[in-house]
Amino acid sequence: MKRTLFDDDHEAFRDTCRAFVDRHLRPAQEKHIANHEFGRDMWLEMGKQGLLGLSIPEEYGGSGVDDPRFSLVLAEELSKLAFAYSSCVGIHSDCVAPYLVDLCTTEQKERWLPRFCTGELVTAIGMTEPSGGSDLAALKTTAVRDGDDWILNGSKTFITNGYSADLVLVAARTSPEKKARGITLFAVEAGMPGFERGRKLDKVGQPEADTSELFFADVRVPAANVIGEVDSGFVYMMQRLTTERMGSAVNNLSHARQILDETLEYVRERKAFGQPIGSFQANKFRLAELVTSSEVAQAFVDACVLEQVEHRLTPVDAAKAKWWTAQVQNEVLDACVQLYGGYGYMTEYRVARAWQDARVSRIWAGSNEIMKELIGRDLGL
Ligand SMILES: Cc1cc2nc3c(=O)[nH]c(=O)nc-3n(C[C@H](O)[C@H](O)[C@H](O)COP(=O)(O)OP(=O)(O)OC[C@H]3O[C@@H](n4cnc5c(N)ncnc54)[C@H](O)[C@@H]3O)c2cc1C
Repeated sequence: MKRTLFDDDHEAFRDTCRAFVDRHLRPAQEKHIANHEFGRDMWLEMGKQGLLGLSIPEEYGGSGVDDPRFSLVLAEELSKLAFAYSSCVGIHSDCVAPYLVDLCTTEQKERWLPRFCTGELVTAIGMTEPSGGSDLAALKTTAVRDGDDWILNGSKTFITNGYSADLVLVAARTSPEKKARGITLFAVEAGMPGFERGRKLDKVGQPEADTSELFFADVRVPAANVIGEVDSGFVYMMQRLTTERMGSAVNNLSHARQILDETLEYVRERKAFGQPIGSFQANKFRLAELVTSSEVAQAFVDACVLEQVEHRLTPVDAAKAKWWTAQVQNEVLDACVQLYGGYGYMTEYRVARAWQDARVSRIWAGSNEIMKELIGRDLGL
């Protein structure tokens, strides 16, 4: 079924994204894997090609586009190469950008946004802590007022872009007695004394992504780096998680569909018992199921994207899209590994890497269980 949510401008932009992936990312992928990050040169190249500031107002060097479909087209094309690329770029351009655009003062925007668009200022967001990520309201990092500054203490973990970020949005407790209503967001910048990074974490998948621990020991953060209102951080995060979850949903399906298409080619060529393995009825039926489930999921996600374009997507529908696509993605990729046989277990094969890369989609940005909790609450249960 033809997808109807994109017009000619989106498709022209898709060509630009594909060209960037083919010219710049694909040839360097093995280096990115070895380095556990894709490096500043890639961020700068993306900035040069206008790929980083799509939603940033033009006066700050962005494209000023109020249409999430452009970002989603980029995310789809990045996911097709490897899940890590859309994760890292998505954190910067789709997760952090709305905080900076919606909540920052003019002075803060002037300070950060032009370099955000060029790739000179890479960003991350630190919500999760070693003691827990699902229960955000229970976070333990603290910030205590000291004159015009705040003194930040605590740590974050599993932070995408954490090792290379120049600016990290950090959620910290500012009014302990107010629980969820006592959390504030701070822009912590590279070089602030007391702000240290741990190692790049060694993950099951997504080796191209830099994922790190962050430590804050008496970091003096000026009041000029508070994002939005003091004690409003939890509400800000809840409001923006919908966008992050839609980004995840789009990436999940694009990633799975790419590998499914590659698998379809493989099973047409690979033979056993004198015939293509795709022609055995068991495999043909399995592939029919996978194509059906990914296309049906795509129809729901595309409908959610159109709701997002109209600014009326609900957090509950985003939660449905996020957990369901993570489920479909993992089922599709597991089946693809099976269809590749022993080669499917070799990391030199894209299918094996994709399978490893995908496992986290049921965990991060709100696990499948948390998504079902949100949906269940909406059912009045
Ligand atoms: C590769 C990677 C990148 C990440 N990037 C970032 C990032 O950039 N920024 C950031 O802030 N975080 C990031 N995260 C963290 C991620 O969002 C958390 O891992 C996730 O929210 C789960 O939190 P947790 O790991 O602490 O698990 P926990 O909260 O300890 O949960 C453990 C298990 O218990 C389940 N559980 C928890 N509560 C309930 C409940 N009420 N009902 C049923 N089951 C429940 C969970 O679903 C999960 O299965 C990243 C994680 C990974 C792995």
